[in-house]
Formats: sequence, C-alpha cells, structure tokens
Amino acid sequence: MRAFAFLGDKIVNLTNFQDAYFEIKATDMGGRIGAIKTKTSEFETPSLLPVIHPVRQAVPCREICSMGYEAVMTNAYTTYRRLRDRAQDGIHKIIDFEGSIMTDSGGYQVLEFGSVDISPVEMAKFEETIGSDIAIILDLPTGLDVTRKHAEATVELTLKAAKETKSILTRDDIIWTLPIQGGRYTDLVAKSAKSSAKMDFGYYALGSPVEVMEDYNFSLLVEMIVASKRHLPMNKPFHLFGAGHPLILPLAIALGCDTFDSASYMLYAKQDRYISSGGTIRLEQLEYLGCSCRICSSHKANELKHLSKEERIVALARHNLFMLKQIMEETKQAIWEGRLWEYVQSNSRNHPKALEAFRTAALLEANGVFERGTPAFKERGLFISDAFDLKRPEVAGYRKKLGELDISSKRNLVILPETKTKPFLRSKLYHEISRLLGSNEDCLVAFTCPNFGLVPAEISDIYPLSQTTSAFTSFPEFDPIIHRKKWDRISILSSDGGPVKEWLKTELASYSGTSAGQPRWKKRGNSKNVETIVEMSRSYKSFKKRMATYV
Ligand SMILES: [Zn+2]
Repeated sequence: MRAFAFLGDKIVNLTNFQDAYFEIKATDMGGRIGAIKTKTSEFETPSLLPVIHPVRQAVPCREICSMGYEAVMTNAYTTYRRLRDRAQDGIHKIIDFEGSIMTDSGGYQVLEFGSVDISPVEMAKFEETIGSDIAIILDLPTGLDVTRKHAEATVELTLKAAKETKSILTRDDIIWTLPIQGGRYTDLVAKSAKSSAKMDFGYYALGSPVEVMEDYNFSLLVEMIVASKRHLPMNKPFHLFGAGHPLILPLAIALGCDTFDSASYMLYAKQDRYISSGGTIRLEQLEYLGCSCRICSSHKANELKHLSKEERIVALARHNLFMLKQIMEETKQAIWEGRLWEYVQSNSRNHPKALEAFRTAALLEANGVFERGTPAFKERGLFISDAFDLKRPEVAGYRKKLGELDISSKRNLVILPETKTKPFLRSKLYHEISRLLGSNEDCLVAFTCPNFGLVPAEISDIYPLSQTTSAFTSFPEFDPIIHRKKWDRISILSSDGGPVKEWLKTELASYSGTSAGQPRWKKRGNSKNVETIVEMSRSYKSFKKRMATYV
C-alpha cells in the first residue's frame, strides 16, 4: 500500500447509515484514489459517471456497465416529469443499472429554462422514493454571465434549499450532495463553501461549471474549484458537474475532484467529435483511429464517416466512453505511481488554455492541497524538465523544511560543490571536511545544488534531493541559508566554474552589497561593524588550509 499523505480521517461516514462511506487509499497532489460505498455498491474514485437519459438512452446502460463504469448519473427531474408513475419501481429498475446511481435534481434545467415546476422539498421526497444512492438537492446554479447580485441570490437560495431538504429527509441510506454556488465570483464560491461545510452534507459539488468549460476558461474553473475545496472538509467526496472534457479531467482530479458526470460522450458524438487523450477531433479530419476500442479496431476512419447518422452517433459514443475511461485509468495510475504532476502537465500541453490552467493551479496550490496530498517520500525519482517544475509540491516541501532548519547556533558557513555521491552527507568530501572541522559546532556545511540552491548537508538526505534528475541547470531565486543570518565567515570551495559559480557570486554580492567572489573582508550594512569574511578557494589544497584555521 502506498504512503498516505492526507492528515485526518482516512475513512469517513457519509450518512448516519454505517455502510455509506468514503475511503481514501492513495494520494498525489490533491488527487486521491478512493472508494465510495453506497447502499447499492462500492465504486472506485476518481470516477466519471456517464449521464444516462431515463427515457431515451442510445447506448444501453448494461453496455456502459460492461465497459467498467461502476456508477452513473441520471436526472431525477426528467424521471419525475416523464416517468412519475414508475417511481415505486426505483431508479435502478427504471434505467436498468445495478451499480450506484447519482441523481441530479433539475438544477441544470433551472439553468437552461429559468425555473422548474417543483420545490426542493418535493424533489428530495421524489429522490427518496426512487431510491437514489447519491442524491443532489434541487439547487439554483449561478451560471456564468450573471450579475454579482444574482450570484449572491443563488448562493443564499441554494443554502436555504439545503436546509429545507435536510429537515424533511426520512431515509438515512442516501448520500446527499450539496452544490457550491457563486460562479465566477470566487469570493462568493468561498463563502458558499464555508456555509455549506457547516451543514455537514455527505458529498459536495461545484455548481454550474459547464459554461466555463465550454468557453475553455479552464483557469477560472481552477480558481472556482480551489475556492470551494479550501473551505470544505478534506475527507468528503467532491463532485464536478458536467466535466467530460479530456483536457480538464486530469487537472480537476489533481485539484481533488473525485467524481464527474458527463454527457460529453453523447454530445460530442452528436457533433461528430471523436475524443482523444489530447482533446476532441472532428470526424471529417480523422484519417486514422489510434485507439483499440471495439469500434476503432473494427472500423477504418472512412468507414466511420460513411455510417448513417444514427449508427455514427452510437459508434462515436461507444468510442468516446472507452476513451474517457482510459483517461481516468491513466490518471489513477499516475496517482498510484506518484507522477501525477508529470501526467497533468503533459496532458495540459495539448492546449494553451489547459497549460495556463495548470500553471494557475500550481501557483494557487503550491502550499495548499498539492503539498498536503503529496507523499513526503516517493519510490521514484523526480524529473525536473523546466523552471516551472520547481513549483512542484515535492520541491515546495523541501523548501519548507529548509526554512524550518534551526541554524541559530551556527556562525560560519562552509560551501562545497555538488558531489556525485548522494545524499551529500555520505560523500567522501563531506567526511573529509567533517574530519578537518573536528568538533567545531559553529559551522554549517552546505552543498551547491542545481535547482535547489544551497543544501545543508544535514538535510541532504531529504526527498527529493538525492532522487532528482534534472534536464537543466538553474538556481532558485531564493536562498535562505546565505541570507537568513549574518555569518562571521563564509568559506567556499569553488567549483569548476560555470553557472554554479556565477550564481554563487551573485548571491554573495547581494548578501554583502558589493561584488564578491574574491577572498576579502566585508563590512556589513547597518550591522554595528560586524564583519563577514568571504573567502573562495580555487584548489582543495588551499581550502584545506582554511579549514584548519577553524579549529
Ligand atoms: Zn476507439
């Protein structure tokens, strides 16, 4: 079993019914592999719940089940409008699905048509009657292009509906979901999430992101997710409505979204769009089918194009379902292996808007959910491919530990070049210098390390320092070790030159306020004439002589 990084309860009950729970099994960044147990079945998360139309469903529910989808979403409001007389049969019989069923409640129709002819209380009673496993309260989605005043009203009215719904519930085996409103006003999203968290629902969701996604405004979507997740209990499942776009799924998972519902497999099929891992492709542009699903292995692209409209929709829908499942499985595997960052980043490179969203997420979450969810140690090494990778949660974790290191008793700083042996404290050079310094406790020995700056030997065994493979040499803009205090003496064993030396010179110049790099005495600013000796040795022989003067 992989390391578990989140603090808090690993298993949390989602209703008063003992057998409805959420269990988190592995995490990376904000993404988690978990299991949701409902009264009907247990299914693994992250999970995409295909949207099933209760009346006209082109790909049979049983087939969707046989493709490995363990849970689906259907619309309780449509069921209420069209199949009310069959309510007593239960939703599982109505749509012919034996796994867990989440039911939407008409909120989407409110967004589409302005209102629905049912109250939240009546809707909740109906969802109890049809026996949903996970039910969504009848909310009032904010929508995208609305005034702040309207957005505020949707927040208030949804909370009111939540309160009314809770007060009339008679069953305790249904997991109730409360959508967070606020739309593009992320402060309202945060406010909505704070109030919603107090209401202790089993499941939370982000309301009305569909239009944001249709606009490819993925960065706003990221901000909305972060604003809600920050104020919600970490160990409850979180649902993202209508997210079936292959560009956004891995990133949304990395931000802590556990389930998604989407009709995209069908909507795209109707528009002759073929889902690929990098986005969607118009059927007319498709020459080759780089996929091994049942449809793609038995058809050529041209044959697909010449199917009748109806056959084509079903064929494309089947392929799209296969592809979405594959994206979910690949993302889960990336969480399991601890390489979610690489996976999300590479996926987001398929579209500038997705890459922008990934960067927004990384900056917003550098010290938040990404870091908390990332295991402190991973079995595999870290790949640093470009400067943005230094925002990785693993690097942020190291920086934090560096900042917490107590160096108050140290007066002298000894800087050594990077050694091939990792961790540095196991290197021959370190042992020799330690021997020369003897019992001198005043010295902090640190190594210059590309991408990490100055690494104190005593924490050089912390992950990911010794396990990092970097494609480029760069140095972070910060260096708390040099700048955090006034040193009596800084002794440097100069490396061969190049970027390390240049960087060190700049650091020392900004430390002492003059150009540095040569052995010299320096007076430091407003420091009551405290002087720092900065000395740089070009050969190990002369460096050894300097070390001898420490004891
Ligand atoms: Zn296919």
